[in-house]
Amino acid sequence: MPIDRRQFLAGAAGASASLLTACAAPTASNTAASAPLPFLVGSPSEALIAKGKAPRVVVCGGGWGGLSAAKNIRQMAPQAEVVLLERNPVFFSCPMSNKWLVDIVDSQFLTHDYLQVSERHGYRFIQSEITQIDRDTKRVHTSLGHLDYDLLVLAPGIRYGYETWFGNDRRAAEATRARFPGAYIPNAEHYALKRALHAFKGGEWVMNLPPPPQRCPPSPYERACLVAWWFKTHNIKGRITILDHKDGVRPIGVGFREAFRDLYGDILTYVPNAHVQEIDPFAQRIKTSAGDMKFDHAVIMAPHQAGDLAWKAGAVGTRPDGKPTGWADVDNKMLTMKGDDDVYVIGDAVGQVSPLPNFLFYPKAGHVANAHGRIVARYIAERLAGRAPKVELPDNLCYMLVNGSPREAIAVQFDYRINDQGILEQAQIDDNDRREALVSEDFRWYARMMGDLFS
Ligand SMILES: Cc1cc2nc3c(=O)[nH]c(=O)nc-3n(C[C@H](O)[C@H](O)[C@H](O)COP(=O)(O)OP(=O)(O)OC[C@H]3O[C@@H](n4cnc5c(N)ncnc54)[C@H](O)[C@@H]3O)c2cc1C
Repeated sequence: MPIDRRQFLAGAAGASASLLTACAAPTASNTAASAPLPFLVGSPSEALIAKGKAPRVVVCGGGWGGLSAAKNIRQMAPQAEVVLLERNPVFFSCPMSNKWLVDIVDSQFLTHDYLQVSERHGYRFIQSEITQIDRDTKRVHTSLGHLDYDLLVLAPGIRYGYETWFGNDRRAAEATRARFPGAYIPNAEHYALKRALHAFKGGEWVMNLPPPPQRCPPSPYERACLVAWWFKTHNIKGRITILDHKDGVRPIGVGFREAFRDLYGDILTYVPNAHVQEIDPFAQRIKTSAGDMKFDHAVIMAPHQAGDLAWKAGAVGTRPDGKPTGWADVDNKMLTMKGDDDVYVIGDAVGQVSPLPNFLFYPKAGHVANAHGRIVARYIAERLAGRAPKVELPDNLCYMLVNGSPREAIAVQFDYRINDQGILEQAQIDDNDRREALVSEDFRWYARMMGDLFS
């Protein structure tokens, strides 16, 4: 039986339940009646909303980072006008979506209403496509009109770099994305993947992992485990091959390898150092440095890059050879864009923050994006109050379900500090011992996160 949101909230920890209740209480200034309208009949060539005297912070992207930033800026800097621009009408969570693929949770569990939370906290949610960011004039252009800002928070998530494989061959790139979506950007791809899994009758199921950094590095392994569990519990004669660009499973490598071997050893093969060289979506073949194979279905993950908006804002860094790094170049402590202190970048789009080879990038995780939103809110509040903000760093925590019956998970925790040389360091603790207790912790974590973003 899938768990629905009501059962889940009822079963959530006392701490998170009381958090939800406390946060949900409306105040006189933030009730729905006093909230501005979210659906504007704009015109792309006109101002979307006139700018008043209050400092205006425009948050671009309403995912894990942007939602956290919008709410926290309103709470920490109530004098600011906050506008959240997001293309989707409804929030869809990638975390927990692997469990949704195999019917452990239902769709309601992943989706949330943008409007209610914006009304509750008094920021303005406008559903629109951001088409251009002009930093010289401090103006964001959207499908509904333009918007001037004093401070900008970019939280655009990721985009796929299909051109790495397909160059200008759009037909092949589009066929790959349409027929074999990676489902790492919400949410139409997730529905397509779920349909493909539920219709799968047997044969070769292939999944690739792109070169790092990628969004949520452990989640493809979780997905492979749950697909294998689905095959077993539905008597589907399928074989799963994981083609990993990396030379080994990480993070939580021991825990995942044990799950692959002990639970799915007869149907799951893990292949390291499998660099994708060619994909033919029509003949259903994939060629990698570790060998070629034909597939009946594939979950094809093109390399990840910072979302389009980071490119539109000119925030993407450049390598010594002049090519783009693919990720936003930021001050690693203040999260401001290099060369423009009025633009903050948060979440998955953030580029390299440390020279240490075992770290380099913050994990591209919702937990980190949520913390980034809170951190830049505090930075902005201090700045608007005329004070210099104190540096804050995120943490990260991630649970991965590896077995559906009994439900068992493994986990990883990351902590960050600044060392004596001023360099950011990462400490990683893998919890490889798969057990049911971690599944309950996972659901409590998600309740806390959703409570934080939507209550
Ligand atoms: C299968 C899977 C499992 C995962 N599991 C976990 C987990 O267990 N724990 C965890 O911490 N993380 C997990 N993650 C990672 C997590 O989803 C991301 O790290 C998180 O979403 C990043 O937040 P973000 O705000 O940077 O980007 P997003 O959440 O992607 O938000 C970006 C937003 O910007 C909007 N946007 C982009 N461009 C435009 C535009 N031009 N106009 C208007 N709007 C725009 C998008 O619509 C989107 O809503 C998982 C991811 C996947 C795919």
